[in-house]
Amino acid sequence: MSEHTHPNPALHALRERWSVIADLQQSVSLLTWDARTYLGSAGHQRRARGIATLTRLRHEHLADGELGDLLADLEGTDLVGDDAALVRECRREVHRAQRLPGALVARAAQQFALAEHRWARARSDDDFASFAPVLRENFVIAREFAQALAPDTHAYDALHDQYERDSTAVDVERLFAPVRTELRDLSSEIAARGPRDDSVLRQRFDRALQARFATEVIEAFGFDPARGRLDATTHPFATGITRDDVRITTRYADDDLRVALFSTMHEAGHGIYEQYLPEAYAGTPLGGTVSLGVHESQSRLFENLIGRSLPFWEWAFDRLRAVFPHQLAGVDGPTFHRAINIVTPSFIRVEADEVTYHLHVMLRFELEQALLDGSLDVDDLPGAWNERSLAYLDVAPPDDRRGCLQDVHWAAGLIGYFPTYTIGTLLSVQLWEALRRDLGDVDGAIRRGEFSGIRTWLTERVHEQGRRATPHELTLAATGAPLSAAPFLRYVREKYGALYEL
Ligand code: ZN
Repeated sequence: MSEHTHPNPALHALRERWSVIADLQQSVSLLTWDARTYLGSAGHQRRARGIATLTRLRHEHLADGELGDLLADLEGTDLVGDDAALVRECRREVHRAQRLPGALVARAAQQFALAEHRWARARSDDDFASFAPVLRENFVIAREFAQALAPDTHAYDALHDQYERDSTAVDVERLFAPVRTELRDLSSEIAARGPRDDSVLRQRFDRALQARFATEVIEAFGFDPARGRLDATTHPFATGITRDDVRITTRYADDDLRVALFSTMHEAGHGIYEQYLPEAYAGTPLGGTVSLGVHESQSRLFENLIGRSLPFWEWAFDRLRAVFPHQLAGVDGPTFHRAINIVTPSFIRVEADEVTYHLHVMLRFELEQALLDGSLDVDDLPGAWNERSLAYLDVAPPDDRRGCLQDVHWAAGLIGYFPTYTIGTLLSVQLWEALRRDLGDVDGAIRRGEFSGIRTWLTERVHEQGRRATPHELTLAATGAPLSAAPFLRYVREKYGALYEL
């Protein structure tokens, strides 16, 4: 008999209570999305207060003693399967909330919302000095969070665990070490082959036409326009207001076709994950995404393993040329594919190629640990950034806009987050290998523009799982092995070895 006809009254009460928490969250998410897309510059002060108030209310509902008692009652019964998983995941969130003082939660929400706005201004004015005091305060709050969440562990681990559960800085470094070595070797071998011509991508491309093509691609991937939308912003992101209202954003460049095209595919990968979360648990912790690494595996899979592949352009190139017949006259699919896969050190992480990308992530991983433990002072960040950029990428940004002010994360209070980009990329290739074993002729399907088999495979093994399993358990179940850098290292060596005749 189904749970629906004979509901367990305590579980029913839990779902009822949680729907209030979810509705407060959806309001905060929508206010935040709006602040990042359309809100006028004068509106941010009061908006930050509104976000702080709703965040505090949500926190109070989470930390409420009656909710804790209800969970304790449920934990005393012999629940199994999804019911047990639901209670376990609710407990995890309640436990976290109980450790955080409400005043700190509200102060952080207000500070981070305003800091993000101050960052956007500092970035466009290339004015790090005006942003430094804001960033310093963000790190003060981050330390207080870490202390409240897990006083006995390293502050970095306490923060990083919020984004990648069960992962520590030591785990991250263990994964990163072989990747760092191989990517530095590979990028020097590629640099030795000399520069390649990307002029086909650097022409004038009308924004509305770019949007039309990108929309066609992401809808083919499986992004459902009835349950989501695409807007423009400074820093592309995806947010699931609910699973049926998933908003993605992109950034357009008039003179570079790559910027919007790949960021749209990337954010659509995130959006598809949110849209195909388990419907029966929508708005509950069990119906949420499991970690940012797993989230990123979905975006990188669509962006890179599909979007930067030759089979994809064998399908998509004629369509793109129909949109830009003048710019792409006389170009063929393979030439275009080589151009979008040019490897070259650059300043901007989100526009970096697949090889140098992770060196950007590692630079940030090292600097945020130093900022958090105090071994690097905020005022010295621009210098430290440029020094490390030179060491890793052989280029130093000419200004802070293209250096330490380029990313929104630290401004938005997201400290300990960056490693999830590389973790997710490693997982994307491991999932891709498993998917190809299971599905057979994946290249043939892509060449025909058929993505539903891929999307369904991902939905069954990742999206629909919600938080039934931990990231580690999910990886094991989907791929048969724990997370490893080996599939990614094989993939980049093989792909770029062929493209650059190494
Ligand atoms: Zn992403």
